[in-house]
Amino acid sequence: MDNLRPMRRLQEFDFIIVGAGSAGSVLASRLSENNRVRVLLLEAGDSDRRLWVRIPLGVGRILNDARYVWKAETEPEPELHGNRIYWPSGKLIGGSSSVNGMLFVRGHPKRYDEWRDNGCPGWGWSDVLPYFKRLEDCSFGDRSLRGRDGPIGVTRLGSDPLTEAFLDACGEVGVRRTDDYNDENPEGAASIQLSTRNGVRCSTGLAYLRKAQKRGNLRVETNALARQVLFDGRRAVGVTYTQDGRLERIRACREVILCAGAIRSPQLLELSGVGRSEVLQGLGLEVVAALPGVGENLQDHLMPRISYECKVPATVNDMLTSRLRLAREIFRYAVHRTGLFATPSFTALAYVHSRPQLAYPDIRLQIGLSSGANRLPTSSSNGLDPFSGFHIGGYFLYPGSRGHVHARSLDPAQTPEIRANYLAHDQDRDVIVRLLGMIRRIAAADALRQVIVREVRPGPEMETDEQLLDYARRTGSTCWHPIGTCKMGSGPDAVVDPELRVHGLVGLRVVDASVVPFMVASNTNIPTIMIAEKAADLIAGSTTLAGC
Ligand SMILES: Cc1cc2nc3c(=O)[nH]c(=O)nc-3n(C[C@H](O)[C@H](O)[C@H](O)COP(=O)(O)OP(=O)(O)OC[C@H]3O[C@@H](n4cnc5c(N)ncnc54)[C@H](O)[C@@H]3O)c2cc1C
Repeated sequence: MDNLRPMRRLQEFDFIIVGAGSAGSVLASRLSENNRVRVLLLEAGDSDRRLWVRIPLGVGRILNDARYVWKAETEPEPELHGNRIYWPSGKLIGGSSSVNGMLFVRGHPKRYDEWRDNGCPGWGWSDVLPYFKRLEDCSFGDRSLRGRDGPIGVTRLGSDPLTEAFLDACGEVGVRRTDDYNDENPEGAASIQLSTRNGVRCSTGLAYLRKAQKRGNLRVETNALARQVLFDGRRAVGVTYTQDGRLERIRACREVILCAGAIRSPQLLELSGVGRSEVLQGLGLEVVAALPGVGENLQDHLMPRISYECKVPATVNDMLTSRLRLAREIFRYAVHRTGLFATPSFTALAYVHSRPQLAYPDIRLQIGLSSGANRLPTSSSNGLDPFSGFHIGGYFLYPGSRGHVHARSLDPAQTPEIRANYLAHDQDRDVIVRLLGMIRRIAAADALRQVIVREVRPGPEMETDEQLLDYARRTGSTCWHPIGTCKMGSGPDAVVDPELRVHGLVGLRVVDASVVPFMVASNTNIPTIMIAEKAADLIAGSTTLAGC
């Protein structure tokens, strides 16, 4: 802070939104539809006008690049042999929707009803379905369930021999094919649905903000790092942020809305004096509101993968090790917008039960057309296998383990302390072993057995439950789905109420993945966009929105 130039003149907006990610871009767009209000959107990252952001397969290239992501790591994970897990998230317009895997998943209707029944009226399936329909442009599926002309394009991937073999093998072990896993019964196996349009990523930056940015009442500031929410007593009245080495102070006459994501919204609350007393005291901050739930209740999906050498030379491995195949795939993408470049490398998924008596599936499996020692290998020098290969990964959808994230310095640019506590819960360990067994059963079914040369990792010698659990501990990695750190609800650990207002304060909301109390879906982007769509209506309904 010492090197900062002084503040410029104080300016005022009706709404200040922090973070132009999945939620923030949607909210800024919807609120600025009303031309009587002035909206300021602050984004710490830069523009999203980059080639690799647009091309679906480009995700492998951008996740290690600080121009696109916040690079972050967990603390050593006690149940993962002390491994630190790399946790990147988007730092640009569109946020994580500009760097994610684009899987389009709404989640299970029964989980939304459980969310509603846990002290959150208004968040049951029938309440949120209209917002899912409003956000999407989907050309297939039942019209009463799927939206036809919303901003986010939905594409169903076509098939290829390996994906077909996976889907057939699922059928052989009793997992039926489903036509649309985003309908009211998400169960079974299917090609994946992507948030893309004409083979191009459909981030919230592109789908919502591009058009909204032309409005005179919306100002978008990039490279603008919010530092603190300002309070007058218990009312949020503005924000300080840094941009080009200058400290700015902006007033909000209606609301400040944090959309900085599940890692950085709780961090920003803490830096503003809102959170656990001991964390605030440790940072030397005055307590504006003691809310013990801030930064707690962190949840994520942990995914181990089994990889295979195969006989089908149509994988990402083949493309990256042969110039001819690479040229062919570039041609396919450039001319038809299809082929490997139009995928994030995974192509099909299955929702299955770890135990038959469960009311709904609790495991998600997926096939990815690449294999290597790393999660996102891009060449043999960083782990790509030098042969045709694919993997099947899986994760427990509803983990019981809970971690936390807390600010450890007054600098918002510094990564907060992240502890996921993966596999701390007994059930998480049990299900992860079961799902690895299930992957092997699918791989042993005729359709896949015929195309597999051998299991490469962990290898057939790893047989017992203990060995499989150890494999998951050694190699499991994040699915990049952090949620829950500004939990919605009414109990002492809740941070926001069902209208997304921070408990005990006025004029301050949190609208992003952090408010989701527990996992409702296998993927978190579309639920987060739904939350922002609903938040826009809640905000419009709670004020005359005449402009202040
Ligand atoms: C690599 C990866 C792959 C994923 N794959 C999928 C997938 O295939 N399908 C799916 O459904 N979900 C996926 N997800 C998860 C999904 O993208 C996220 O859950 C969702 O984008 C979260 O949205 P959000 O609005 O909460 O946060 P984000 O979209 O991360 O937005 C937060 C924004 O706030 C900005 N910000 C943070 N702090 C500040 C500050 N102090 N000042 C100003 N700006 C700030 C950030 O730069 C960012 O732009 C993936 C995520 C990642 C990272």
